[in-house]
Amino acid sequence: MISELYIVYSGRCLDCGSSHEVAESAESRLAATALIARLSAANLDAGPKVIGALVGTARGGEPVILVALSGAARPDLPIAFVPGLRAHAATAAAEAEALRRISALDTALGAVRASLLQLDGDNLRHAMAARASTRLAESARRRADRHQERSMHSRPGGGPPNEDALRLLDDDARLERQRLRDETRRDKEELEQLERSESQLNATRLALLSERRQVSAALMTQIFEAYRLRSLGGRVASIKDALSSTGYERAVPTGTGDCAAPRLVAEAGRLGLARVSLSEVWWAPGDDRHGRPVGPCADRCQPLMGFLLCPAGGPSESHVA
Ligand SMILES: [Zn+2]
Ligand SMILES: [Zn+2]
Repeated sequence: MISELYIVYSGRCLDCGSSHEVAESAESRLAATALIARLSAANLDAGPKVIGALVGTARGGEPVILVALSGAARPDLPIAFVPGLRAHAATAAAEAEALRRISALDTALGAVRASLLQLDGDNLRHAMAARASTRLAESARRRADRHQERSMHSRPGGGPPNEDALRLLDDDARLERQRLRDETRRDKEELEQLERSESQLNATRLALLSERRQVSAALMTQIFEAYRLRSLGGRVASIKDALSSTGYERAVPTGTGDCAAPRLVAEAGRLGLARVSLSEVWWAPGDDRHGRPVGPCADRCQPLMGFLLCPAGGPSESHVA
C-alpha cells in the first residue's frame, strides 16, 4: 500500500483522553508538489523552509486546498497563503521595551567586564607573589650578612666584642623585621581590597545576567501568549494553553506556531473543513531535501499536535491575528 509511505500527524489530547491523527493523502502530497511549482514560478529565494498544503471538504461539500509557508509572511508572492497565528501588534510595544532593557543590560555587562579586566586581578596576584618572594630572598641575604658581621665583631678567642657594632646590627635586624611585617600587611590589605572589588563586580555581573534571563523569559511568555492557535474542531488557544491540553511540560523554542502545519490546521478549523489531509515538504532548491516530505517538527509542532488535531468543538474566540 502506497499510503504506508504517507506521514501521519498525531498527538495525545488530554481533553478527550485519546490520540488524534491526520494523515497525508495523495491529494495533499500533490497539492504540496503543486505549491513547489508555483513557488518556483514566483522565484521564491532558496530557503530552506518548510511549505505545506492541506486538503479538505467545506461544509457545502466542495473541496478546499489551503497552502502555507513557515516563517515570516510573504505578501510579495502572488499566492494566497493562510495567515500566521501571532498577533504581532499585541506584543510590539512589549518587545521594543524588552529589547531596550536587554540592550541596557548588555551595556552594563560590558562595563562590568571592562572593570574586571581593568582590575586585572590575576596579574596583581602574580606581581604580589613575586614581590613577596623577592622580599624573603633579600631578607635572607641580609640576615646572612648580619650573621657574618656579627661573628666578625664578636672576636671569638681574642679581644672584647665590639658592643656598639653588635647593637647596631641588632637594631638593623629589628627594623628589618618591622619593615617585613609592614610590607606583608600592606600586601594583605591590597589583596583583600582586590578580592572585595572582584566579588562586588562578580555579584553585579550575576545579577545583570539573571535580570537579562528574566526579561527574555518574560518576553517569550508574552510572545507565546500572542499566538492564537486553532484546532481542527475550531477551538482557539494560546501556545501555553494548547501545550497544557497535550500535557507537554517542557519549554518550546522560539518559532513555535510559525510552521506551516499549525497555520493550515487553524484555517481548516476556522472554515470547519472535514476529511482533512495534510502534507509538509521542504523548499530548498539546489539541496537534497528539496521536495522531500517533512512531517511535524519534533520540538515545535509535535508538542501541539494533540491540541491542533482535536476535532472537538467549543466556545471559539473571534480574535485571530
Ligand atoms: Zn513545525
Ligand atoms: Zn481532543
